[in-house]
Amino acid sequence: MFPLPPGSTIGILGGGQLGRMLALAAARLGFDVAILEPEEDSPASRVARTTFIGAYDDPEALAALADASDVVTYEFENVPAAAVDRLLSLGCEVAPNARALAVAQDRADEKIFLSSVGAHTVAFAAADTAADVEAAVARIGTPCLLKTRREGYDGKGQTWIESATEAAAALERIGGKPAIVEARAEFVRELSIIAARGRDGEHAVYPLGENHHEGGILRRTLAPAKVSDATLARAEQIAIQVLSGLGYVGVIGIELFELADGSLLVNEIAPRVHNTGHWTQDGCEVDQFEQHIRAVAGWPLGPTEATCHVEMTNLLGDEAASWTDYAAEPHTRVHIYGKREANPGRKMGHINRTTPFR
Ligand code: AMP
Repeated sequence: MFPLPPGSTIGILGGGQLGRMLALAAARLGFDVAILEPEEDSPASRVARTTFIGAYDDPEALAALADASDVVTYEFENVPAAAVDRLLSLGCEVAPNARALAVAQDRADEKIFLSSVGAHTVAFAAADTAADVEAAVARIGTPCLLKTRREGYDGKGQTWIESATEAAAALERIGGKPAIVEARAEFVRELSIIAARGRDGEHAVYPLGENHHEGGILRRTLAPAKVSDATLARAEQIAIQVLSGLGYVGVIGIELFELADGSLLVNEIAPRVHNTGHWTQDGCEVDQFEQHIRAVAGWPLGPTEATCHVEMTNLLGDEAASWTDYAAEPHTRVHIYGKREANPGRKMGHINRTTPFR
């Protein structure tokens, strides 16, 4: 059935901005898009052919999506495992696979997987109780970071621990959920690498991005990041080890900490297109969204070389209201997600400011 011809339908779980940009890329290649999303009027549904409104684990909505789609993918990693099982039981193709989703959903399993493929992470320990946290802090040292094993994003569900006596209070701060204690990464920079694997096992790796966060939210990506050849080679090796290790199909985002000696630790993997890859829309011939659609549809992967420097800036909350200013800048490409409410800190759009290579 692969490669899927134009006219086939790509199903997407999730109707946010990533789903929207995937849908736009899919449309450019001649595909139709069906979205499954709990809310009416989502950013993706307004550019898709069909939207099924329902919970991600609603059996009827999943059956409708499976029926409409030649392949189903997703735009966020907290898709319930039961939803993927249901789609698979209906004979539906799902990419990236259930293993990638399971690994990315649990910070402890993720780090165990990363070590198994030779990618380094900070020292860590899983901890379910205050006693576990205390023991982990004693082993790992302070300061250390307590994170929920599941469902954290944009810095949510995590808290610093300065001393072992804080263990119980810290666990309470993150809602008493199963957790992981992480050593502090003494990083000099946060980098990320976006990469893809096709159905034939071919890899495509983008240049690195250098990421700057504010209040736990990505503010800016500079790409291609200036890194040594050795760091670049190591990042590419990590990406390929992760993709091959998961038997992955699609685009993945891998967040990295660069240490003072140039070595890299993996912070986390996102089994989907990634905010730190938005620069590729205006800095590469085939961007991460088209690349993901190509991969899941079984098409050849596209080129990943950068064509210019890009500074990607997220537009948060009411910042997108200044769109006329950004639109007036000749070397700035404006991407607005069509969200109706500009709550503070909400990702409403992004801009890519491009500079030619000299
Ligand atoms: P995460 O939700 O794991 O992506 O973490 C959000 C941000 O917290 C990261 O981008 C880092 O800036 C910071 N962070 C996460 N884990 C660590 C760590 N082990 N050591 C130091 N900083 C961290």
